[in-house]
Amino acid sequence: MSADPLLLVREDLRDFAGYRSARTDKVDGRVWLNANEAAWPNGADAGGAARRYPQPQPDRLRKALAALYGCAPGQLLAGRGSDEPIDLLIRALCRPGGDAIVVTPPTFGMYAVCARLHGTPVVEAPLVETANGFTCDFNAVEQASRDAGARIVFLCSPGNPSGATLPLPAVAALARALEGKALVVVDEAYQEYAEGPSATSLLGAQRNVVVLRTLSKAHALAAARIGSVIADPVLIEVLQRCQAPYPLPQPSVDLACRALAPDVLAETARRVATTCAERTRLAQALRCVRGVRRVYPSSANFLLVRFENPGAVYAALLAAGIVVRDMRQALGLADALRISLGTREQNDAVLETLAQLEAAA
Ligand SMILES: *Cc1c(COP(=O)(O)O)cnc(C)c1O
Repeated sequence: MSADPLLLVREDLRDFAGYRSARTDKVDGRVWLNANEAAWPNGADAGGAARRYPQPQPDRLRKALAALYGCAPGQLLAGRGSDEPIDLLIRALCRPGGDAIVVTPPTFGMYAVCARLHGTPVVEAPLVETANGFTCDFNAVEQASRDAGARIVFLCSPGNPSGATLPLPAVAALARALEGKALVVVDEAYQEYAEGPSATSLLGAQRNVVVLRTLSKAHALAAARIGSVIADPVLIEVLQRCQAPYPLPQPSVDLACRALAPDVLAETARRVATTCAERTRLAQALRCVRGVRRVYPSSANFLLVRFENPGAVYAALLAAGIVVRDMRQALGLADALRISLGTREQNDAVLETLAQLEAAA
């Protein structure tokens, strides 16, 4: 059994109780007069569903998410998207203005944003470009983490924007190497679109592995803001104490619970399969377009594409009313755009616009 991850938590927070809300004490009552809630519902809230403060971690939601991700409810904390757990992890493990995190650019921007807001240095161990796409240099990550005395390594698999998955044995080896020194966070925002197993399979052996999941992408609930952090129960408790007292709005909880019913999950799985088929089709078609330098293999719901003239492509798509993500500011991606997979018709519109641009050239 690997080292207690509590030792990675900020020393001054190890026994921190957090805010005691009106929902902290589990008591039973008939008349609830302990939270200064209104005695009547709002005129716009006919059933009064929103009158009372919500449960911080509704059992029903936590159980459904745990079942979805194949973990125990005590290993999971639901948050406002997976963005919130990123912030919670940094605040709970890194001293304000100190310690460090390691990121692997080009990668998701929120790790560095949250660290910066906390005054925590960000150390980079860039992804390496190969014939098969971007790969992670795990030795460099380990070395960077040791050198900086980092508390957290943020990996992203499938990567945004790289689209690449990370080999789990290498993730496990990194976690072993950094045991007692750092958490290894695997952000799996796009795992539903990938083929291999989730890094949650590493949790039993490595207590310093943390996995992030979200309903925002494959489950089409970005506006509900429901994400999950999956980790050792000791860490989950610490993170909950650092979280806002009532983090999950009731309408979002209700919507998420409905989305996790078997029939809806089956529909979600069909949509994901359709998106994956579109990914193959669009990637093949793009590889035949003149002016396309490289289409990266993708295990997510987007394609990262290098163009000879990315500015003209971006402008042509925009003129056709199609907005894609300009990646030219990202490390090593000065000629790249990231195109989310849309419906078949939307993807065809992308191809058509590129064909017109090619014809005009
Ligand atoms: C979209 C995205 C997220 C954010 O997801 P939310 O759950 O909506 O906060 C996290 N990580 C990566 C890599 C993403 O691309």
